[in-house]
Amino acid sequence: MNILVINSGSSSIKYQYFKKGETTPIVKGIIERVGMEGAILSHTKKGLDKLKKVLPVENHKKGIEIILDMLEDKKYGALKSLSEIKAVGHRVVHGGEAFSGSVLIDDDVIKALEDCTELAPLHNPPNLLGINAIRELLPGIPNVAVFDTAFHSTLPKHAYIYAIPYKYYEKYKIRRYGFHGTSHDYVSTEGAKMLGTTRDKLKIVTCHLGNGSSIAAVDRGKSVDTSLGFGTMCGIPMGTRAGDIDPAIVPFLMEKEGFSATEMRDILYKKSGLLGISEISSDMRDIEKKAMEGDEKAALSLKIFAYYVKKYIGMYAAVMNGLDLVIFTAGIGENGWEMREMILSDMEFLGIKLDRSRNRFRGEQKIITTEDSRVKVAVVPTNEELMIARDTEKIVKNRRGGDE
Ligand code: ADP
Repeated sequence: MNILVINSGSSSIKYQYFKKGETTPIVKGIIERVGMEGAILSHTKKGLDKLKKVLPVENHKKGIEIILDMLEDKKYGALKSLSEIKAVGHRVVHGGEAFSGSVLIDDDVIKALEDCTELAPLHNPPNLLGINAIRELLPGIPNVAVFDTAFHSTLPKHAYIYAIPYKYYEKYKIRRYGFHGTSHDYVSTEGAKMLGTTRDKLKIVTCHLGNGSSIAAVDRGKSVDTSLGFGTMCGIPMGTRAGDIDPAIVPFLMEKEGFSATEMRDILYKKSGLLGISEISSDMRDIEKKAMEGDEKAALSLKIFAYYVKKYIGMYAAVMNGLDLVIFTAGIGENGWEMREMILSDMEFLGIKLDRSRNRFRGEQKIITTEDSRVKVAVVPTNEELMIARDTEKIVKNRRGGDE
């Protein structure tokens, strides 16, 4: 089935178009700076040089129009008529408690997504703008929502309820939701295949380490715990986000510095993590470079990052009462072999024996432990768009009773 995948964020819209039966998109691209001066379209078609264009994109609907025009472009496009698109899959960040899997979008789903907006005020509104634009511009074509939170809907209650007064769960739905679900789902499936089995037989810890990072315990195919929670600031320290900190720090700093709630959130979301500690950058490559040059804070931020990931792997092995496979993915997980080495050193007691020479690569799908390592570690490049395309196809086929 020909599927268009749309990831509509606050200031960018990413897209990929998959032709029936293919696992790599024939065209893909991104529009950045939507709604701002100097919006940029970057578009790639298999076999051609990347196209870059600065053009006015006043809102998300205009952005989607431009994407649809590109798909029909004689040179850079992939179809003669938009009617060749059989379904559109949309990344949606927050499905709240209402959605435990991908769904065909109808008016009731739109309403439920609007109800989730309070839980993801930065993400769900632009996701909805993308969905509404496609519904308007491609009427009659089925749309599917694929949620970042859905894979974690299997968390047991004791893992998702926070130890604060229970009434706040009842009143505001404050609980652990977890994010990056599509990525954890995809890499745990692929990682199991690499071991010649299926994930329902394995206890897996998946480490999605990018600008935003999260770790998940995937016990025989089900997510049973994950490091992101109600929001996207907790767990391991990220590019600019704090990760787990003592909650006592929050009121202390607010009182000492006179910060408002918004200012405090900005500090924890935009000024902490690798950037906050290193005072250099949020980007792992910059920090590694500075650390090599002898910068102490850069080196410290790397150590803290590695330490938290190690702690979570240990914690989740305990949670699952065992561990067969650890998977690294996303920008740092796929490319940062130096960081993988820092994390995986001295883990023999858990059954992990890193093969240092096998580990020295970037961006490939490979096992990096020794032959006799009881627990295997794999690097699996994530592919959220393919996962969204697969889910979309599944949902649409089910609806039609499998006619495609
Ligand atoms: P996002 O969460 O924005 O999707 P990515 O998954 O693209 O983020 O990850 C971005 C992170 O990956 C950055 O910290 C970047 O420095 C890191 N990264 C990318 N390439 C490398 C590399 N070759 N070595 C180390 N880190 C890398």
